[in-house]
Amino acid sequence: MLQKEKEAGLRAVGTAMALAAAIQKEMTGKETLTKSDRSPVTIADFAAQALVCNALVAAFPGVPIVGEEDSLAIRKPENRDIFAKIVHYLKKFDPTLDAKRICDLIDLGGGDPDGMFWALDPIDGTKGFLRGEQFAIALALVRDGRVRLGILGCPNLGAAAGGNLFWAGEGRGCWKTPAAGGGAEPVRVSGKTDPRQMKFVESYESSHSDKDTQLGISLRLGISSPPEQMDSQVKYGIVASGDAEIYLRIPNPATPDYREKIWDHAAGSLIVEEAGGKVSDIDGKKLDFTAGKTLRRNRGILATNGALHDRVLEVIAELAAKK
Ligand code: AMP
Ligand code: MG
Repeated sequence: MLQKEKEAGLRAVGTAMALAAAIQKEMTGKETLTKSDRSPVTIADFAAQALVCNALVAAFPGVPIVGEEDSLAIRKPENRDIFAKIVHYLKKFDPTLDAKRICDLIDLGGGDPDGMFWALDPIDGTKGFLRGEQFAIALALVRDGRVRLGILGCPNLGAAAGGNLFWAGEGRGCWKTPAAGGGAEPVRVSGKTDPRQMKFVESYESSHSDKDTQLGISLRLGISSPPEQMDSQVKYGIVASGDAEIYLRIPNPATPDYREKIWDHAAGSLIVEEAGGKVSDIDGKKLDFTAGKTLRRNRGILATNGALHDRVLEVIAELAAKK
């Protein structure tokens, strides 16, 4: 089931990983724009979205794609140089692409998150990408509100830093393969149950979650090492492969109206669940992918190896009651 989707998705994300890794190595500092929400977007975000959309629309023309980016900014004359760089990189992968086609491909990501659709974050963790650190290419197939397939390309995670490609199918388990090629191996969460031996991960960016509260929770759980920060859904990959046990994302009180985006969690959440872990929001509710582009019926994220999931929820509730 979903074999064709899995194969096409893995190929598309694998190619986008190579493209993004090449851009990250060659960056000169002139590859970035600022979006209306003041977050950065780079030539890699646009180019990766064009590449993945190109592959998906060819194989599954009827399935909408809900992607993070659109081509509005790069069509502006003042961003001509940025656009030229995007065309330059994309032509290396597909010489038939021209400027108009590239904009159209990026805008294919404007699909409706309804029924069956792809959710795509072409570069998740753009800030990490710009720092030369972790980022991910995240693609998920959602049908009737359930994530059926999750694919996560992590170019700077493992396999001697050539990166790894994770994927999970609903009811089919979780797997990874080195980006450089090689056999797939099953991915399992760690079996640790003693909090003193557990690793706790959170966002690198302070504005994306409530780090003070997260530190308080990790101490109360009895975790001895301090929380580790890293960007993007790489955190889900780390929990899935047993290199951390808890990923917590408590909403930052400075941005109370922020809602998590579906493309930031669809692929990663299935990857942890199919590796044997648990994912919920911080009230213990299942992530609800039927509410449009955001998880507006959820608050925050908790992904664990399962051992302390309910205990973490309890501690979150205890601390909230004290406030
Ligand atoms: P991470 O590195 O795990 O924080 O994930 C990066 C993602 O955080 C980006 O793709 C953004 O969509 C998302 N993000 C941006 N602002 C916020 C915010 N105020 N709260 C939570 N997440 C955010
Ligand atoms: Mg993202």
